[in-house]
Amino acid sequence: MKIMKRFCAICGREVDVYYDNLCLDCFRKNHPLLSKPLKLKITICRECNSIFYLNKWVKGDLESILLQLIRREVKKLSKGEIKNVEISVTEENKSKYTVLVTVVGRARHDMPYYKEEYMAEVRVRYEVCPVCRDIILKKEKAILQVRALNRELSLEEKKRILEIVEIEIAKLQRKQRNAVIVDIEDKKGLDIKLLSANVARALAAAIQKEFPALIKETYKLIRLDRNGRPVSKVTVKVELPPFSKGDVVDIKGTLFYVKEIKRGIIKLVNLSTYKTINVTSKTCPKSTKRVSVEKEKYLVNSITPPVVSLLNLASYETIEARLPVIPQWLKVGGTIEAVNYRGRIYVLPP
Ligand SMILES: [Zn+2]
Ligand SMILES: [Zn+2]
Repeated sequence: MKIMKRFCAICGREVDVYYDNLCLDCFRKNHPLLSKPLKLKITICRECNSIFYLNKWVKGDLESILLQLIRREVKKLSKGEIKNVEISVTEENKSKYTVLVTVVGRARHDMPYYKEEYMAEVRVRYEVCPVCRDIILKKEKAILQVRALNRELSLEEKKRILEIVEIEIAKLQRKQRNAVIVDIEDKKGLDIKLLSANVARALAAAIQKEFPALIKETYKLIRLDRNGRPVSKVTVKVELPPFSKGDVVDIKGTLFYVKEIKRGIIKLVNLSTYKTINVTSKTCPKSTKRVSVEKEKYLVNSITPPVVSLLNLASYETIEARLPVIPQWLKVGGTIEAVNYRGRIYVLPP
């Protein structure tokens, strides 16, 4: 039996597979993966380069956001099946990008995949995003106030706190675009002005992980918004204890040396018994006072319990100290620090 020969209805070629009486090439010509030109508009923040994408401002690499946008657009416009979309920006100026779009797909599910190329035109508009607007207007919504009780923050504490803040801000920025510092004032303590109360709280918590601090939050009503809802400014206060590492403190008449402050724990050495106690900001007695004493260096001349003879290394005067307990680390010939408080000599632990 003779089989009727078939030919492509457009180009007349004889092929193995026909799609609606057409060869693959002719079918593709009549059914491009995209039948409408690709035209997109994007808005970029001229301050921070954030891009307005899917109804929100996102920070990210323009090319990868363009790829996501164009992918969505291609899938929306195409009547065929899209397997992959790649782009490369071929021309760019401030207000327009020309992008070569390579689409892999097929017009019908019974076809092999093939590649098509299109040019996309992306119009760029520049604006200022809401976060940058708030920064420009210095519209802080929260203040993180770092203070120490009854004293000033030491330079070392300030430095460390700013480091913690910087690390935490970088972490928060990955999830929250308004994790931005508007301003830092360094007067009585640190005042860190922020755009969000949540960011202030997160920073306070991060500081508290390292310093034994108490956190208090206060609100101040600024105004009512258009709908009559209160707009308030939140102050998150982080209060460090009235002493820092290396200080001598008085707790109910007994002197302690602040050996270490780490992860919220304060290590105190009793300067009469040399026993160590651990407290936190919450368990540290309210009456704890920093005593201002001058630390002096001494050479240990001799130890005849309970008397220790010490040579002052600045004045070369020898003094005798009566210590109810001789700590193990006190050795003849060793150098130590001691303080004179109300006529009594206290030897500080190394
Ligand atoms: Zn054909
Ligand atoms: Zn911006």
